[in-house]
Amino acid sequence: MGSAMLDTVFCYHCQARHSRDEMRQVVSKTGKRWRCAKSIAAAKNDLAAREAFGRQVTAMNKSEAQAKIKHLLNPERATKGR
Ligand SMILES: [Zn+2]
Repeated sequence: MGSAMLDTVFCYHCQARHSRDEMRQVVSKTGKRWRCAKSIAAAKNDLAAREAFGRQVTAMNKSEAQAKIKHLLNPERATKGR
């Protein structure tokens, strides 16, 4: 009989058991839960990626807005004809 099961904790994130030294206890609305360090790190990376994406979109929206403003300040003369 292996004793490995004694050293594992159920990870609510992966729905699987990991060895205890990989696990971190986190406090959620429903109480204390065990989650593995890997999934916590992955979530952090995910958040950072989302934040970076958000910044990109904000920058894009800004330049788009600036282009629109320029357009309003400088109405195209070409379409006016003559
Ligand atoms: Zn896990």
